[in-house]
Amino acid sequence: MATDGRRTRASTRSGGGGGRGGGTDTNATPKGTSKTGELVSGQGGPNFSQGGIMPGGGQMENWRENPQDPMAPIGVRSRAVERDSSILRLGPLEKIYLIWMVGGSCDGCTVAVSGATHPRVEHLLSGIIPGLPRVELIHTVVSVEVGPEWTHNLFMAERGELDAPYLICWEGSIMDESIAGEGYWMGLGEDPQTGRQITSLEWLDRLSPGAAAVVAVGTCASWGGIPAAKGNVTNSMGVMDYLGKDYRSAFGVPVVNVPGCSPIGDNVLETAAAVCLFLNGLAPLPEFDDLGRPAWLFGETVHRHCPRAGYYEEGVFATEYGDKECLVELGCWGPVVQCNIAERGMVDGHGGCMQMGGICIGCTMPGFPDKFSPITEIAPGSLISSTTSRIVGGAIRRMRAVSAVDKNMTARWDGAGETSSGFGRSTTAPKGATKMIHKFYSKYQHSHEGGHKGKKLYGEGHGNTAGMGTFEAGSGHGKH
Ligand code: SF4
Repeated sequence: MATDGRRTRASTRSGGGGGRGGGTDTNATPKGTSKTGELVSGQGGPNFSQGGIMPGGGQMENWRENPQDPMAPIGVRSRAVERDSSILRLGPLEKIYLIWMVGGSCDGCTVAVSGATHPRVEHLLSGIIPGLPRVELIHTVVSVEVGPEWTHNLFMAERGELDAPYLICWEGSIMDESIAGEGYWMGLGEDPQTGRQITSLEWLDRLSPGAAAVVAVGTCASWGGIPAAKGNVTNSMGVMDYLGKDYRSAFGVPVVNVPGCSPIGDNVLETAAAVCLFLNGLAPLPEFDDLGRPAWLFGETVHRHCPRAGYYEEGVFATEYGDKECLVELGCWGPVVQCNIAERGMVDGHGGCMQMGGICIGCTMPGFPDKFSPITEIAPGSLISSTTSRIVGGAIRRMRAVSAVDKNMTARWDGAGETSSGFGRSTTAPKGATKMIHKFYSKYQHSHEGGHKGKKLYGEGHGNTAGMGTFEAGSGHGKH
């Protein structure tokens, strides 16, 4: 991925793309110039207390007369609501703002997070989780307020006017605005005085230094993802690439990455909750790996926890979709991909790639998608490992099958040489070589008990030779 757009100034000119609070800008002004300064300095900045006509022609709400108006910025509404002292809150932080912004995204991360169950979005919003501050969500899709009321939250955050710290969750790739020409890739609101289009990237520039933490949600935000695949006309990249190795939040935290396309919703909210616990002073900063991923979530490969891993070990492989065995010969990359989908599932422990019959295509990995394509073909290296599994695992599987015949027999049935099951097709006792194998196996198994000289093996002495009664197949029960 090209990185020459890293930390480039965002073009603020209009003409392409679109976004919340969109509109048309005829006053193209590069970021960082006096116009931008006017926006944020408070000197001649936006006066939201006055209702009036917006540059786009819409009527602006005079929400300061009623700060509890549901269309008022959440930063303002939040202050207007008296703290409920009857609710037990353990931490010194009563609340925290979560600003969710979007770059080159399909909104799949938002959908995934809305399905999280551990914790649930609504539990974070209502502040009912002990030790966690209540979350005030400022989200490009699900917030109540729109347009200038929504972006006012961002102005407040930048000016330090929010009454609690804020986290930034960024969804989607960073598209390089410096190559957007006369347009822009990602727009997010306007300068309320001039109507100048503000890009999402400009907001990231303005808000990331003061953020408690920046969390890149999903693979596009973490590593660039599909928009950064071969071709990459927008010079897309991850948040970490854009902000740089030396970026630190106001609390000294580098960019946190929760990859996945889409990510597991629980992974995102669990990470956000862990960071909130840290900010609340109730826990250390969670452990992150070298790539900024939550170490406890991405430390293992998919394969190690896959429900089909037993088939792989025994060298049994699916030959077509719909088969229940290991999918490696259909192209599964699970043995090398770091992801916890196999044990966590997609929603509330359910679903997930292999559980639903799909191969792992490596969507959590920085090399995705190019290094995993074409996803319809078998990974070259897996031929070696699956062939090895076939040989070694195949032998082990047969040995286990022999053992299973013995372990499926009660002591009584051992004596009788048969089971009493009427379904009995496969319930005959081991015979011949198999019986000999079991005899020696059992001797070895019980050798630590003092040897078998003069002792009977488990099962021996039962049935019709040891006074346990006579077992007659089909008669129901042994006679005593
Ligand atoms: Fe491993 Fe994939 Fe097979 Fe599961 S389906 S056991 S992850 S190779």
